[in-house]
Amino acid sequence: MLRCRSIPPLRGMPGRRLAIGTLPGMSAAAGRLGPRVTTTPARRHRITVPHSPEHFQVVDRSASTPVILHAPHGGRAIPPEHLGSFVVSAAELEAEKDAMTDHFTDTLVGSITGASAVINGLSRFAIDVERFPDESEEMNAVGMGVLYTHGSRRQEIRRVAEADRAPLLAYFAQYSRRFTELVDATLAVHGRAVIIDVHSYPEQQLPYELHGGGPRAPLCVGSEPFHAAEPFLLAVAESFAQLQARANTTFAGSYVPLKHYQTDDRVSSVMLEIRRDVYMDEATIAVRPNGFLRLQQSLQRLVDRVR
Ligand SMILES: [Zn+2]
Repeated sequence: MLRCRSIPPLRGMPGRRLAIGTLPGMSAAAGRLGPRVTTTPARRHRITVPHSPEHFQVVDRSASTPVILHAPHGGRAIPPEHLGSFVVSAAELEAEKDAMTDHFTDTLVGSITGASAVINGLSRFAIDVERFPDESEEMNAVGMGVLYTHGSRRQEIRRVAEADRAPLLAYFAQYSRRFTELVDATLAVHGRAVIIDVHSYPEQQLPYELHGGGPRAPLCVGSEPFHAAEPFLLAVAESFAQLQARANTTFAGSYVPLKHYQTDDRVSSVMLEIRRDVYMDEATIAVRPNGFLRLQQSLQRLVDRVR
């Protein structure tokens, strides 16, 4: 896990990455996906997994493709019943979402054909589906573990009530379980699964970042050798050739279900951290259509090449 956090280059990093499926699954919260881009057509996918909670979409195309796209941080939704524990104003919370949401990555992922997709509609300020839910989570140090208590400027934003904890952790568990099931279904058909974990990050470093200070390339490609062979990384580089890219700087690793993490090399995974100015104006949270279109084309090229 540990995407959308800055961590040092891969060498010397602690070995684990993904905490998927580490909690018992239960019911999940309800709501809708976050805002969509209006200047770029976004194809809405049919939800094909029965009983999928309203806050995330699972588009299961495992019958026809080994590729799984993931957009964990594009959502802004916080269910109203969980707003009470925030200690900042509604305006400040929205400003935090502006700073920390991987804007339009949900739309980007939803627009690609030939891949399954898992698209999270809940804001990371409700619960971060890519954090470790235990004390091993490094971002706990700045109040940004699985349940954030602090914001982008390390200011307190929430005192998590007990009544919030269980349902939000249940959402985390169900999300993780669904993702794992999709990977298993994909493996059963294709004998391999290719995860592309799509994020974006701000042009300017934010105070919460633990390992900032390094170069912030237009594209940061996170991976680990066990889950990313050279041909896969080459396909990424060639598909995004128009963007200067750096490996595992300033974000590292990629999303793999814990069930498969470091034990099943049939599961490949790469994280794409796209610097936001490439495709949007961070000041106005407006998409830049040309940049967004080029990203769509590159991601589609990558999917077509590795499927
Ligand atoms: Zn992210």
